Amino acid sequence: MNADPHGDQEVRLRIGYGWDSHEFKAGIPLRIGGVTLAHTHGLGGHSDGDVLLHALTDALLGAMAAPDIGTLFPPSDAKWKGADSALFLREALKRVSAAGYSIVNVDSTLILDVPKIGPHAVAIRESVAKLLRIPADCVGLKAKTPEGMGTDNAAIAQAVVLLQKKP
Ligand SMILES: [Zn+2]
Repeated sequence: MNADPHGDQEVRLRIGYGWDSHEFKAGIPLRIGGVTLAHTHGLGGHSDGDVLLHALTDALLGAMAAPDIGTLFPPSDAKWKGADSALFLREALKRVSAAGYSIVNVDSTLILDVPKIGPHAVAIRESVAKLLRIPADCVGLKAKTPEGMGTDNAAIAQAVVLLQKKP
C-alpha cells in the first residue's frame, strides 16, 4: 500500500465490493463457490464461470484498490479458458496478505432462478471459507430468484468483504 492518505491516523479496516454475472450454457459443469452442482447447464464465459468466486475475487481486489479480475486475468487470454477460479481468488488473497491485511468476514448474494441453492448452501459456504482460510461463520451467503428482472438465463453474484490490518 502507498503512503497513508489519511494523515497520521492509520486506517485499520478496508471494505471491498464485487459483482459478476454469467450466462447459462448447456452441457458444461456448473461451478459455484468452488463446488460443482448437478445441473443441466453451467455458466459460460471467463474460466470455469464461477460467478461467486469471481465476485469475491473482485471484492478482495477492490478492497486493495488493485486492478480488477478482468484486468489481471483477461478473458481474451486462452490461458484462462476453463481455469479453476480458485486461482484468481488465491492471487487476490496474496495481495491482501502482502498489503498486511486479513479478512474479517465476507457476505454474498447469488441471484439465479435454477438450480435452487438452498440444499447446497452449507457446502458452498464451507468451500468458500476453506478457500479464503476463514471460519464458515464468517461467510454469508444468500440466494434470491431474479423476479421481474428478465435474467432467468443468467447467474449473478454480489459480494462484500471487510479486511483488517494485521497487528
Ligand atoms: Zn465472472
